[in-house]
Amino acid sequence: MRLVKLIANLGYGSRKEVAAMFREGRIAASDGDVLYADDKVAHDNIFIDEQPLDPPPGLVLMLNKPLGTICSTKDKGRVVYDLLPPRYRERSPSLSTVGRLDRETSGLLLFTDDGALLHRIISPRAKVAKVYEATLAQDLRGDEGEIFAAGTLMLESEQTPLAPAELKVLGPRHVTVTVTEGRYHQVRRMFAAVGNHVETLRRISVGGLVLGDLADGAWRALDADDVALIF
Ligand code: URA
Repeated sequence: MRLVKLIANLGYGSRKEVAAMFREGRIAASDGDVLYADDKVAHDNIFIDEQPLDPPPGLVLMLNKPLGTICSTKDKGRVVYDLLPPRYRERSPSLSTVGRLDRETSGLLLFTDDGALLHRIISPRAKVAKVYEATLAQDLRGDEGEIFAAGTLMLESEQTPLAPAELKVLGPRHVTVTVTEGRYHQVRRMFAAVGNHVETLRRISVGGLVLGDLADGAWRALDADDVALIF
């Protein structure tokens, strides 16, 4: 594939715009030599404005989603894509969020342009554990852990019970919950079902991938080792 097409497909601009970037000398090899549109070079030897070219499709990003942002490309409010470089929104096939977090949920949000990977992560059959840290409006009663673990909890207007989930008590109103599904408002509805109310909710891990010290609103690209941690 010609470099212009390869780079345009990654969302850096139209072919015309990328051709102009070549003419302006903004695209170079790792040794700093300016590249031309017809050059043949390895993907990882292409730099734009001295930054390495994004990897080919199969891109996986993780964002520490701030409160108040929405998992959508089109919304009048602040959308999670606003926190990524603009080219990611343009990327084809489009980069989508791996599941969704509510506007008032913060924490680990994944994006990928790899549909098969996305499906593997969100499929309840894959049983990828998602851990949420929550603070609650009221003290725990004491029986919530048992109820969540039983795998029999029915949420309102659902046809099937929730899969077993694990509750860890960190304080009278402070918990982590590990779930393997991603039903709509799941954690908030689980606590509503046991007479409580979630005040704050943050996802701290997906499989073995942890949010760690990624700053609020910051993102990073994941490599194959990071992705392997998920499963
Ligand atoms: N459960 C919820 O209630 N909200 C989220 O955003 C994620 C899990």
